[in-house]
Amino acid sequence: MKNFSYTRAGDVATAVSEIAGDSAAKFIAGGTNLIDLMKENVARPSRLIDITRLPLDKIEETEDGGVRIGALVTNTDVAYDELIEKRYPLLSKSILAGASAQLRNMATTGGNLMQRTRCYYFYDTATPCNKREPGTACSAINGFNRIHAILGASEHCIATHPSDMCVALAALEATVRVTGKDGDRAIPFAEFHRLPGDAPQTDTNLRADEIITAVDLPAKGFADNHTYLKVRDRASYAFALVSVAAALEMDGSAIKEARLALGGVAHKPWRDMEAEAMLNGKEATKENFQKVAEAILSDAKGFGYNDFKIELAKRAVVRALRQASEMGGKYDDKLHRTADQPR
Ligand SMILES: Cc1cc2nc3c(=O)[nH]c(=O)nc-3n(C[C@H](O)[C@H](O)[C@H](O)COP(=O)(O)OP(=O)(O)OC[C@H]3O[C@@H](n4cnc5c(N)ncnc54)[C@H](O)[C@@H]3O)c2cc1C
Ligand code: SF4
Repeated sequence: MKNFSYTRAGDVATAVSEIAGDSAAKFIAGGTNLIDLMKENVARPSRLIDITRLPLDKIEETEDGGVRIGALVTNTDVAYDELIEKRYPLLSKSILAGASAQLRNMATTGGNLMQRTRCYYFYDTATPCNKREPGTACSAINGFNRIHAILGASEHCIATHPSDMCVALAALEATVRVTGKDGDRAIPFAEFHRLPGDAPQTDTNLRADEIITAVDLPAKGFADNHTYLKVRDRASYAFALVSVAAALEMDGSAIKEARLALGGVAHKPWRDMEAEAMLNGKEATKENFQKVAEAILSDAKGFGYNDFKIELAKRAVVRALRQASEMGGKYDDKLHRTADQPR
């Protein structure tokens, strides 16, 4: 057992100065990921800075017509918030597809963005892992890599980002608001998480002295035509093998704008904007959906056990686009499904 100290921050400025003063300190919010990592000896912070009392627990409308979600709003409170259910049901659905009710009650918005990969070797300190201990090796590349990345991986790491919520936030083009020693900044969601490259130990572009304070959603929520499709080994309480957040703006049977983000396939929620744009102005047909799926997965590479994910992801993209295009305002925000979708 490694000793660590515990402090509770009363305001954001104190939280920032405490994390800036100790490179081995860590914020703790819901604790649903960090405590597990500490028990497995993967995370060994010198100090836990409890941020749960910071005033970052509100969901509010913003002047530009969007919505701001405080970093400490729990996953449950986001998913069942009236405003989110009505205007951003894609986000509600993605959250409710993840973890369990008990975990969602504890897990926070900021913690969900910062959760670490579920790569088995990352958790197993008896095996080499470049993300846990840079320069050791990646045990997954030639190991059991069924849950690993097929897009954007590197020779140093083929891990995936496990979040469901982040896949919807990528499709919705959210912005992450952070505060650090040098003040506030806003990070577009697409730039928040990193690809592994030659520094897989770094998951995000958040600086060491920064705290996430909120996530902003733009006004456009794609409430009428969207879907979050999650393919996993069990019907609940399992991470995605592949997931797709699809958001469409329709003009009759044609697509005006399409957004697609994939989860479970890369080190970050995966978007291919060029491929998405292929749908703009096109009819919502299976053939057009298949062309986009082929384009998104054109550079995909399997590592053996995860080869199946390439075809799975293509099919998931086509199915998600079909579901989103056929929804046509039929979404029941209380059921979190369209009337014709199975429970
Ligand atoms: C059994 C199990 C199943 C799960 N299934 C799913 C699933 O299917 N889908 C899914 O998406 N997730 C799933 N999760 C993950 C869960 O959603 C995350 O553990 C949770 O969102 C993390 O939030 P937290 O508040 O508990 O974070 P914590 O554990 O408190 O913190 C996680 C990390 O975030 C950092 N952090 C927290 N808040 C901030 C902040 N404001 N600013 C900067 N850094 C911060 C902490 O320092 C730490 O490094 C599962 C977890 C478990 C244990
Ligand atoms: S995939 Fe990444 S996290 Fe997993 S063993 Fe390789 S380096 Fe470690």
